[in-house]
Amino acid sequence: MTDKTIHKTIIIGSGPAGLTAAIYAARANLSPIVFEGNQPGGQLTITTDVENYPGFPDGILGPDMMDLFRKQAQKFGAECFYKHVSKVDFSSSPFKVYVQEEEYLTESVIISTGASARMLGLDAEKELMGYGVSTCATCDGYFFKEKEIVVVGGGDSAMEEASFLTKFASKVTLVHRRDEFRASKIMIDRVLDNPKIEIIKNAVVTDILGSQKDGVSSILLKDTIDGKERNFECDGVFYGIGHKPNTDQFKGIINLNDQGYIVTNPGSTLTNVAGIFACGDVQDDHYRQAITAAGSGCMAAIDAEKYLEDL
Ligand code: NAP
Repeated sequence: MTDKTIHKTIIIGSGPAGLTAAIYAARANLSPIVFEGNQPGGQLTITTDVENYPGFPDGILGPDMMDLFRKQAQKFGAECFYKHVSKVDFSSSPFKVYVQEEEYLTESVIISTGASARMLGLDAEKELMGYGVSTCATCDGYFFKEKEIVVVGGGDSAMEEASFLTKFASKVTLVHRRDEFRASKIMIDRVLDNPKIEIIKNAVVTDILGSQKDGVSSILLKDTIDGKERNFECDGVFYGIGHKPNTDQFKGIINLNDQGYIVTNPGSTLTNVAGIFACGDVQDDHYRQAITAAGSGCMAAIDAEKYLEDL
């Protein structure tokens, strides 16, 4: 099916960046279409309470917050669809955006497909995500006051999360699958110097035990050298094993950096293709917060509006 309408802007992705772009684009009369993707609302829909987003002094559930963002965008005329963009063609304007066989034409595109935390792939993590298992220390660390926490990973993220979590936890155990860390020396030294952090090397987490009602009670740890498995008690598990930007559809079409993040011009949301803008975690491997994503979504809509005015 081809929709012959040439839209002013299509927004791909529906986390804080995409839906903020939708609010601003709708209020600028750009009649945005939002393709929400496979995880409508983005990463916030797999967290529980959000307590650090300004304006919600009592906190708000991540999914509820994204419902409010969507409602606000729709109020001004944004059209949101639970559809996943499978392919794009940015070789000439109007640009083409595909949802399987459906083709949509547009004068500008705002990409806000986000990033996904890498997971271990355990069955238990699906059930316990937000109930003791987390991929974001900044978001969830506060809920683990005086608790014992495991952090998985051996890179800078894991080191940073482990150090940060000692502000709340009574004890943090860093579990890494190898003998050597990938992290930078300064980050490793900070962890080694912290009396609240213990390190277990050459071990992988093979299961997480607990329930949504009572949270995490322990993990199963397998020694990678002798193969022995043991139970290890803890109250929470944080993954620090990296993020993967959701840019598979854009490889070879717009500029990505070595890690796959979209490259934007500093201080703006412009990509190397005029008319294509990127905001949120898909172009930010550093801050990765809802509020920074929302801010860059606002920037993308303003950048798109300016681009369309100058056409
Ligand atoms: P990363 O450097 O890719 O490290 C990921 C870590 O997780 C590695 O130690 C890896 O183990 C481990 N891992 C991956 N998959 C695993 C699995 N399935 N099971 C167990 N362990 C697994 O990712 P990152 O730490 O998020 O860092 C990403 C980039 O951001 C880096 O360039 C980093 O320097 C940067 N960063 C910088 C800062 C800072 O400077 N403040 C903070 C955070 C991130 P192996 O080592 O065995 O592969």
